[in-house]
Amino acid sequence: MHRLIFRQKVGMVYYISICLSLLLLVNSAYTLADVAVTTLPKSSLVPGGIAVIPTHAGALSGRYRNQRITLANFDGEQYAIIGIPLNAEIGSQQFDLSYADGHSESLQFSIEFKEYIEQHLTISNTRQVNPNTEDMVRINRESAKMTRAFSSWDDSLTPVFSMQAPVAGIRSSSFGLKRFFNEQPRNPHSGMDIAADEGTPIYAPAPGIILTTGNYFFNGNTIIMDHGHGLISLYCHMNTIDVEPGTVIRTGDQIGRVGQTGRVTGPHLHWSVNLNNTRVDPALFLTE
Ligand SMILES: [Zn+2]
Repeated sequence: MHRLIFRQKVGMVYYISICLSLLLLVNSAYTLADVAVTTLPKSSLVPGGIAVIPTHAGALSGRYRNQRITLANFDGEQYAIIGIPLNAEIGSQQFDLSYADGHSESLQFSIEFKEYIEQHLTISNTRQVNPNTEDMVRINRESAKMTRAFSSWDDSLTPVFSMQAPVAGIRSSSFGLKRFFNEQPRNPHSGMDIAADEGTPIYAPAPGIILTTGNYFFNGNTIIMDHGHGLISLYCHMNTIDVEPGTVIRTGDQIGRVGQTGRVTGPHLHWSVNLNNTRVDPALFLTE
């Protein structure tokens, strides 16, 4: 009797383990494929824009400039959603798609010139314009941490590409502006600035999970949020951070308050949105 029960148990364990491995097999194939979405970002074929391109096929994964790209299924059609870097050369761009049967193909799209105007800002803390050696060690460490976060990929989250502005305020600086601090040229503006009084609540523009928080040399109090499948957002210069890494966020949840920490000329939120580890124009996600 005991032996029979034992044999039945072993049989059951064997059966369950086969089911589990089949499930894992199906799941691993599934996690490579596209994600069903209800909205797409606006397509803008310029440096700093987004290429939203129908693939006319069910690709499993895609790459552009050595970075994994988002593949989304919208209304029964598969789209590659590609962040185009501000330093991309005008003309033909290539990305690669891989398929379940092992074959891959290259597709192309073309980008046009866009003029981004200059912005000249005066920073009273000159160390924030010309950091010393010690500052540079910190800046490099923080930059590596942010690059790691921007490269994150979470298959469990469904990206929402139509966003609401994270704070009610005046857009004080747009994405892509050629920046001069104290008349010295620096990197172009990688996000959107919304000016508001210190303490104004900042709300999540889309659902996600908090990847990391911290205090950074240039960015001040900062949150990085993962929205899934390579869509990641950044919030800087905050007065307070009201969330922790791992917090699950719904659209409209308060994540912090506007401040003036880090390199600023006044209280504002610096908001940036990333696709395939590339900073793109946040305005392309706004619904209004
Ligand atoms: Zn900014």
